[in-house]
Amino acid sequence: MKQTGDLNLVKKINKSIVLHYIRNYSPISRARIAEQTGLTKATVSSLVNELLESSLANEIGTGESSGGRKPMMLLFNRTAGYALGIDLGVNYIRAVLTDLEGTIVEQYKVQHDNTVLELALVELKACIREMIRRVPQSVYGIVGIGIGIPGISNGQGDVLFAPNLGWTDVPLQRIIEEEFGIAVVIDNEANAGAVGEKEFGAGRDAADLVYISVGIGIGAGIIIKGELFRGSSGFSGEIGHMSIQHDGKPCRCGNAGCWEMYASENALYEAARHVLNTPSIDMETLLSLAEKGESSVIKLFERVGHFLGVGVVNIINGFNPELIIIGGRLAEAGQWLRPTMLQSLEGRSLPYPRERLQIEFSQLGSRSAVLGACSFAISKFFASTKVSVE
Ligand SMILES: [Zn+2]
Repeated sequence: MKQTGDLNLVKKINKSIVLHYIRNYSPISRARIAEQTGLTKATVSSLVNELLESSLANEIGTGESSGGRKPMMLLFNRTAGYALGIDLGVNYIRAVLTDLEGTIVEQYKVQHDNTVLELALVELKACIREMIRRVPQSVYGIVGIGIGIPGISNGQGDVLFAPNLGWTDVPLQRIIEEEFGIAVVIDNEANAGAVGEKEFGAGRDAADLVYISVGIGIGAGIIIKGELFRGSSGFSGEIGHMSIQHDGKPCRCGNAGCWEMYASENALYEAARHVLNTPSIDMETLLSLAEKGESSVIKLFERVGHFLGVGVVNIINGFNPELIIIGGRLAEAGQWLRPTMLQSLEGRSLPYPRERLQIEFSQLGSRSAVLGACSFAISKFFASTKVSVE
């Protein structure tokens, strides 16, 4: 490798280190960054000047001095650009715009059946166009688009398999990047939800956590030692397809007795259609009936809570996490799911892994996945050479 190449690389690494300190510890002085990083004051000063020029940092007032001239403090410029996060569900598209620290500035949601690929893409592009129209004036505009999908994707942003959407081999990242010319990250919605909770929600202080997304299907995002665990080829977390009944209901995945056949939104609807004797039912209706004290509907939720617990036991015993967060659409029914779910856990899980476990319904509600998608987009932006070197 040429020497210039090496120097560029060193500079790029140093610059992202300085930026990391400004992003995470601002307001912070140049001297403090030098002290913390071990870089020389001259190096820090020159890199900070470049960050000021690229508008990623600002200078504000003066800080406390430890003797001598009071230092100018540096602040991360969180509104230098915006991230667009999208949660592409089976029957909705949810989007948020956040600043570079994940603060939501715009939201958008549309009910839409996404099982027909062509129609889903039309609606998805319309949603992105709408959010581009709404983005506040800034230096970088939209720095990236993160999209959470209910299925598995590879590192190239292709949706390999999304059983509940009925999609296989869709080059979603390429399609969206070609249309809008903005960097796109595709990931599983449960992974996005786990990262959303870790960065902005209930998981901020937890190193080992499992986020369980309970919607039309069930998926999990697993965080181990603060990092998303993707498995050897990126397909971890398909826990909706663990068998809880060896000879149970056949599932679309080819297995039988899968957890999501009993504890998902779909399972709830199937039981509700039967009990309420109606061909179509939705979550809003069921929630409002439960709210009114309709005992047959409350019983339906309680039964799903029981099955939820049966599956969660396997996660507790298998992973011994410090925190489990239940998110996704069904988390909205937490108050009716919780008692029977906890009963299942009490009766079934091993006492030692349960002892220090905390289990919560998501504080971010249905925003965990979109916020996680924003976080993916922001990380990609800061990891890109364009920002770090030029
Ligand atoms: Zn299955």
